[in-house]
Amino acid sequence: MSKYIFVTGGVTSSLGKGIVGASLGKLLQARGLNVTIQKFDPYINVDPGTLNPYEHGECYVTDDGAETDLDLGHYERFLNISTSQANNVTTGRIYETVINKERAGDYLGKTVQVIPHITDEIKRRMRLLEEKNFDIIITELGGTVGDIESLPYLEALRQLRMELHPDDHITVHLTLVPYLAAAKELKTKPTQHSVKELQEAGIQPDILVCRTEHELGDEIRAKLALFCNLKPENVIEAIDADTIYDVPLLMLKEKLDIRVMEKLKIASAKEPDLRNWKEFLGHLKNPSEDVTVGLIGKYNELPDAYKSIYEAFVHGGAANECKVNIIAVHSEDIESDTDARKKLKDLDGILVAPGFGERGIEGKILAIKYAREKKVPFFGICLGMQCAVVEFARNVLNIKNAASSEMDKSAQEPVIDMMHEQRKIKNKGGTMRLGSYNCQLSPDSRVYGAYQKEQIAERHRHRYEFNNVYKDRIESHGMMATGMNLEKNLVEIVEIKDHPWFIGVQFHPELKSTVEMPHPLFVDFIKHCMLYKNKAIN
Ligand code: GLN
Repeated sequence: MSKYIFVTGGVTSSLGKGIVGASLGKLLQARGLNVTIQKFDPYINVDPGTLNPYEHGECYVTDDGAETDLDLGHYERFLNISTSQANNVTTGRIYETVINKERAGDYLGKTVQVIPHITDEIKRRMRLLEEKNFDIIITELGGTVGDIESLPYLEALRQLRMELHPDDHITVHLTLVPYLAAAKELKTKPTQHSVKELQEAGIQPDILVCRTEHELGDEIRAKLALFCNLKPENVIEAIDADTIYDVPLLMLKEKLDIRVMEKLKIASAKEPDLRNWKEFLGHLKNPSEDVTVGLIGKYNELPDAYKSIYEAFVHGGAANECKVNIIAVHSEDIESDTDARKKLKDLDGILVAPGFGERGIEGKILAIKYAREKKVPFFGICLGMQCAVVEFARNVLNIKNAASSEMDKSAQEPVIDMMHEQRKIKNKGGTMRLGSYNCQLSPDSRVYGAYQKEQIAERHRHRYEFNNVYKDRIESHGMMATGMNLEKNLVEIVEIKDHPWFIGVQFHPELKSTVEMPHPLFVDFIKHCMLYKNKAIN
């Protein structure tokens, strides 16, 4: 029998519900409980796959090929678990299911309504993970209490709280306690209003987690408790942290896990084992070296668009006891070899980011040429790998009009081309090559050196592919296909033999990097950036 923790949010968005949920999950997991987390998003897109990163940040992909909210990345990175389609549900998906049922005649004769049909479908989805026998299912409700689009979720939550045994559910509400500089005071009123709004929906939160820039103090805690109908010990402070990875320890100090276990009547068998986590934090906070890596992309004003890449650098950096400074370089700012030299000359490594469409592509290619010629460690991810193939074909094989057919539909020399099965596809949503695929590594390759095994599986999200027509020519000039998907004969990895570290991968390694299992390619890349830097110094 699973127990439920519901996490709601009030006052403003972006308070970090995902991080608080993941941190609580981490603490309960560290006490030996089997925990998972799911997120319900109130927008009407069936999934975030069709959303521009400007709107919603990175689209996170799970092993089973679901295109999901970036909070699922936090869940995986914190808990070291693999999530799935069932862990992320949107209003669009709920309505799609209900409307399909209506068309199939399942509700014959009935008027289909928000209550009970939409709320029933929300509740069914909320309980889907029960089948997997988790001890704890944390359910984050996206959006903010008071939003029109959140109403059906709050109503479903109200009903579910009635249906579940009182010992089997708890509601944690995350709010903001702002500091007014002029008054030199923390203000509780927004939180009071937010809780009132929740109470009007029939939900009394059991625990309040308060984001704040300053310590709450006993007086504020007591006031919040009084006005929000809670015991003072159930008012938890969530003070701003240096890094998101501090939050589990801050929540531990505030006894959030103990308060939750008291309500859920879970007798704690053991103290949380956070040795690995603390060791990671120790390395993260006391690096003995640092390197500077350029992230060449086109959403650089918006780090959320590359969230998992940034986090994979944090994990891989800690593993090397090295701080990785990331310089975001806008690919559109690189228009010539001179620009590339100017912008990239102080970097110890260059990563060319994933992406879609033509904008900024030539700048990425110029950056790759620079990295290849100057022998700077280079890491190309998805579009970054495809650009590396185009660059190599143009400048080493001398195929001047080599291109990806994504950028030039009538490319004469499409060294990157649309996959065969993609050609007939018209719908944009959920139709890319998505999710985990096997890849066989060549034993004498650099990637094998990093992974230390021949069989790997990595996650994908793309429509275009290395064109095998050019494979022999490309390999004969020194760019080797060192990772292959054997079922479909697809090139998944290229590397340049005569270069200290030049690797392009068709998949997204950043999606599988976690605190406890930093991704081997990021670890190895950073290691080579350190070597490059030290050689440059000597
Ligand atoms: N646009 C490229 C493709 O669809 C690369 C995608 C990506 O970088 N995720 O193949």
